[in-house]
Amino acid sequence: MAVPKKRHNSSRTRRRRNHQTHARTALQKCPSCSEMAQPHRVCTHCGTYRDRQYKEIVTTV
Ligand SMILES: [Zn+2]
Repeated sequence: MAVPKKRHNSSRTRRRRNHQTHARTALQKCPSCSEMAQPHRVCTHCGTYRDRQYKEIVTTV
């Protein structure tokens, strides 16, 4: 059975792992509270998505 004669050098390993970066989370402004929120998700600040309230926001003063 064929066995690799040498291991890959460090530059080849780093060239392969160059594309394994973590994808950045996309953020856009919420239309109702204008905080930065994920698109196509219920806003974590005001709890609305497409002009509907989905989550109760409890404000403690
Ligand atoms: Zn919002």
